[in-house]
Amino acid sequence: MEQIIEKLKGKARNSWSGEIGEQRAIELEKYLRGKLEEYSNALEISQEEILKSWEEDRTYSAINYYQEANQPPIKGDKVKVFETVEEMLQVVGERKFRCPSCNHISTNPYECNSGEEMSEGKICDWKVYGLFGDLGKGTFIYVKDKLKGETIFTPISWE
Ligand SMILES: [Zn+2]
Repeated sequence: MEQIIEKLKGKARNSWSGEIGEQRAIELEKYLRGKLEEYSNALEISQEEILKSWEEDRTYSAINYYQEANQPPIKGDKVKVFETVEEMLQVVGERKFRCPSCNHISTNPYECNSGEEMSEGKICDWKVYGLFGDLGKGTFIYVKDKLKGETIFTPISWE
């Protein structure tokens, strides 16, 4: 785990010259250690496993990936943790999710397919992974056996 953190700090350091790069490396390490401790305690999964799962998931720069939007606080109403995908599907129940933009029901948890017309000729196609995300109305789900967390439209059954 220490090796991975060192490697990531190196990337942050090299992303900008001089002091700013060094500052980025320090901030990234602080962020990572805080998040790893929080996730490890909440999920009862080792910090090393969590860090590895994030690194597997990461497809772009560490500085952009390690942000609150991707690793939100793992507690509270907006977060649900499941042991398995099966358990998650069972708890979600019917595939109906609340679109944060049009407020209607989408059967897709990531992209609105409610068919709701937002303005003339413009059907809602809100995407939870788009620039404005879930507008603070989605739910972060974490599935332990997959070591994966993501934000989805909140299931109607959880409202
Ligand atoms: Zn919508």
